[in-house]
Amino acid sequence: MEKFKELGLQGKILKGIEDLGFEQPTPIQEKVIPVILGEENDLVALAQTGTGKTAAFGLPLLQKLETALPEVQVLVLSPTRELCMQIGKDFQNYAKYRPDIKVVCVYGGADIRKQIKEIKQGCHVLLATPGRLCDLIRREAVSIEYVRAVVLDEADEMLNMGFKEDLNFILDETPEERKTYLFSATMPREVERIAKTYLRAPQEISTGKKNQGADTVSHEYYQVRAKDCYETLRRVIDCAPDMYAIIFTRTKIDARDIARKLHKDGIDCDALHGDLSQAQRDDVMERFRSKRLKVLVATDVAARGLDVDNLTHVINYNLPEDVESYTHRSGRTGRAGKEGISVAIINSKERGKLRRIEKIIKKEFQYREVPGGEAVCRAQLLWYADKILAAEPKETLEKYKDELYAKFASLTKEELLQKILSYEFGKLLKKYANVEDLNLPENECGGKREGKKEGKKETDGQHDFTTFTLNIGSDDGFTPRDLMTIINENVPRRGLEIGAIRIFEGNTKFEIDLGDLRRFASFFRNVSFNGLPFHPVEIKDRYARDKGRSRAPFPEKRRFDKKRADKGKRGRFAEKKKGIGNSPRPRKKR
Ligand code: AMP
Repeated sequence: MEKFKELGLQGKILKGIEDLGFEQPTPIQEKVIPVILGEENDLVALAQTGTGKTAAFGLPLLQKLETALPEVQVLVLSPTRELCMQIGKDFQNYAKYRPDIKVVCVYGGADIRKQIKEIKQGCHVLLATPGRLCDLIRREAVSIEYVRAVVLDEADEMLNMGFKEDLNFILDETPEERKTYLFSATMPREVERIAKTYLRAPQEISTGKKNQGADTVSHEYYQVRAKDCYETLRRVIDCAPDMYAIIFTRTKIDARDIARKLHKDGIDCDALHGDLSQAQRDDVMERFRSKRLKVLVATDVAARGLDVDNLTHVINYNLPEDVESYTHRSGRTGRAGKEGISVAIINSKERGKLRRIEKIIKKEFQYREVPGGEAVCRAQLLWYADKILAAEPKETLEKYKDELYAKFASLTKEELLQKILSYEFGKLLKKYANVEDLNLPENECGGKREGKKEGKKETDGQHDFTTFTLNIGSDDGFTPRDLMTIINENVPRRGLEIGAIRIFEGNTKFEIDLGDLRRFASFFRNVSFNGLPFHPVEIKDRYARDKGRSRAPFPEKRRFDKKRADKGKRGRFAEKKKGIGNSPRPRKKR
């Protein structure tokens, strides 16, 4: 506690964190708390979840509140309902001995009238997701004109999720003299731009390197044929009986399929993806947090803002498209100084992608051999033996002891053990008795391609994705939701699987498994977005695909156009007022 005192924390807030068992500040807390208490600087902090960043901004902001004043003084924006609720829970804990502090959480997917009522009953600290807050501001249900401090938590995720316009709108509603504290796990250009626009001479704080994960995470990979990815996953899970993990897939179909298969194979698991209702999502998360589920299979989008402690592993069933997503995925383990493992299961042609990730995160992936049957059985048996050794003898067993001893009297100790293990592990031993070696021979590890079809660009083992680029981007107010809506409304064919969507300032890249659908682009001949022609172009060559990532694909066509730039500035709000862009939440095509 002394260290927290030295940083400037006092009284009832200190007492609150004492109850939480915090003894020493984490590195990010040591750096951030004095800056926020000093109130001199804005702040850009490069920090992953799990570093203790919530307390880093929460504790000093709560301590500085003037609760005699009724207005909202602190605003914390976060990308998802889950993260918002988690911050709310953390703040309630920090302020356990300060009942005068009123904290309200507002987020989408919940009854807005209830939230309005809560705000009316008093709110010093407003924790919000951007979309819902914009809604409340437009309804004049909340005023943020007296806010003294704004926290942008997981700023990179908020921008990834298409909240740029919402953030601009919200920040413009707050007073100029407010302090702004931006937290982000990665620092892409868009985040730097937000920092430049809205922060004044910010102090930069980092507990890691840009786009680099925590030091407590080790990175491992298995390289197998695409068709063997599932079996590899299964063995990796079986080989780690204490595993508590999130498995990331690129598509919701994969998430669902893998969860189903694992469940069938006897592993406690479920899937988290965009098709679940909020109630289903809450149910899955409750079972995962309480460890009734050992593994959660999730898409990147569905897992955003998830805050689960003590994960032993993160498994990349498919490598993500970009390094930032990898940093986010792997950052879900190795939190609060604990060790974690980030596993990548790659197919024979993904080595290059892995190397690119290594270069940016500045960590090497350790090659691991896919465990054979013997290794899996040994791991399970030893784990079982450890559990038996650790078990406390129960007194209530005493009364059955004699009868049981009599039953086993004819067996030696070895025979008894044999029988117990055969009973417990019969199925497993049988399953793994003669399994195939899934490791690729060394000469196949360097990038030999499998089953590449003409015109197809990516395969995750189950989908052949074709990548398209589009001359509309976030500067035009374009969001993933807009993309899905346009595709849903214009392509008559059901069953298209949409893979990664990446929206850059001037362009968008997205993947579609077209199956045998011909001339995808022709469905959009007369379609436009905000007056811009919607014109997807298939990326035919790999060089162009990799090189063009964050640049406009056709720079000569994107000369500055004042009318368009003004429209971009007005963005989604302007369109919504006109009734455009108000279409119901889009869904991937089935
Ligand atoms: P966060 O990065 O805010 O998501 O925090 C990650 C986890 O670390 C949470 O479970 C916190 O309760 C915990 N934590 C934060 N600060 C400390 C601290 N100083 N000592 C011990 N645990 C902490």
